[in-house]
Amino acid sequence: MTQHPNQSSPRSADVIIIGGGIMGASAAFFLRTRRHSVILLERGLVGQQASGVNFGNVRRQGRNLVQLPLANRSHEIWKRLSELIGDDCEYAPVGQLRVCYDQDAAEDAEQYARAAQGYGLELELLGPEALRERYPYIGHDVIFGSLAPLDGHANPRLLAPAFGRAASRQGAHIEENAEVLTVEKTGEDFEVETRNRGTYRAPTVLITTGAWGGALAERCGEPVPLRARGPQMGVTEPVPYRIEPTLTVKTNVPDETIYLRQVTRGNIVFGGGNRNEVDLKGILAYANPEYSLNQMPLLARLMPSIAKLRLIRVWTGIEGYLPDGLPIMCESGKVAGLYYAFGFSGAGFQIGPGVGDVMAELIDMGRSTTPIDAFDISRFATST
Ligand SMILES: Cc1cc2nc3c(=O)[nH]c(=O)nc-3n(C[C@H](O)[C@H](O)[C@H](O)COP(=O)(O)OP(=O)(O)OC[C@H]3O[C@@H](n4cnc5c(N)ncnc54)[C@H](O)[C@@H]3O)c2cc1C
Repeated sequence: MTQHPNQSSPRSADVIIIGGGIMGASAAFFLRTRRHSVILLERGLVGQQASGVNFGNVRRQGRNLVQLPLANRSHEIWKRLSELIGDDCEYAPVGQLRVCYDQDAAEDAEQYARAAQGYGLELELLGPEALRERYPYIGHDVIFGSLAPLDGHANPRLLAPAFGRAASRQGAHIEENAEVLTVEKTGEDFEVETRNRGTYRAPTVLITTGAWGGALAERCGEPVPLRARGPQMGVTEPVPYRIEPTLTVKTNVPDETIYLRQVTRGNIVFGGGNRNEVDLKGILAYANPEYSLNQMPLLARLMPSIAKLRLIRVWTGIEGYLPDGLPIMCESGKVAGLYYAFGFSGAGFQIGPGVGDVMAELIDMGRSTTPIDAFDISRFATST
């Protein structure tokens, strides 16, 4: 990532952020808008891990209700991306349609719609005829749908680097290829030692290291049951643009989970089903061809015409999952001045910009105006 031309290379700042995925990059940007000096240390390149390889679902529908205020804060930022960071990241608020194959799943979807009333999702429930009239390409097994018209998708490759560049233009120092080895508190300051970029100092440290967050938190005395896995993605050859909303199967049968979206260039991106084993130490995740084969009948059931298309690429990435599916976002309960935002459990893309904004507010003001108590690391204090 190119630094702003006027920028020197500082060794200390108000805040050091460790990890340059969407959480770290957006936090750097929002901390700069609050006038804090910032050094962001990224082991590889900004947006290279989960934030850059995900499916690109920008969705509020289906989230645990405790995440919706945060998702709504993020929604407001997504709408203003171009104005804020100079890049719309191909954000397309084209809707998200969750569809069901059986009555149980349909009842759950209806219940979710009732519970989510008042959060601004504007869900529209659709029976089989309305569905087929509006979306003639969906499969005949689909009996029910819930449309979130304000959800959509974006290009994950663009988001974290765009936030990183915007933060850099605002004066944040972004140091790539800077793996953090240790974080020690000495007096008022933290000393952050990197593998080959020397040592940095700051009174405040924010850990946004995604699936690697568990290791740093454990070294700071706060172990969490974070499990790393790799969701499997694929993309077809391009065909004329026709599928507007993101399609997701809402099911209580985990093996039936599948989702897809079409980019305006024509390719259909999809994911779902089994998750891959990953190697956190080696920073490696391999897509499993068998999982792609498993995805094919699921895709054909959701949208029969997709069965005729050629698959041109499959991939996976490394994501950290917590048992309750909620992230960790808080100040450390053990070390003053240490903050966490990691463990986004397969759903961090939409909330990413909001997470950066909230963490910047928490660091700046000592509190968040968006409720985040449910995400406190202390909930795992006795379980590990
Ligand atoms: C294949 C896949 C599909 C997904 N699909 C979706 C989706 O459609 N919608 C959705 O909402 N979410 C999705 N997710 C989840 C989403 O991508 C993540 O929740 C989100 O990107 C997490 O962002 P992050 O910044 O916390 O982590 P990351 O993007 O992983 O960033 C963490 C960064 O920390 C760096 N780092 C780690 N250790 C160190 C260290 N010691 N020193 C310095 N730097 C370090 C890493 O190099 C990395 O760049 C998906 C994830 C994957 C893998």
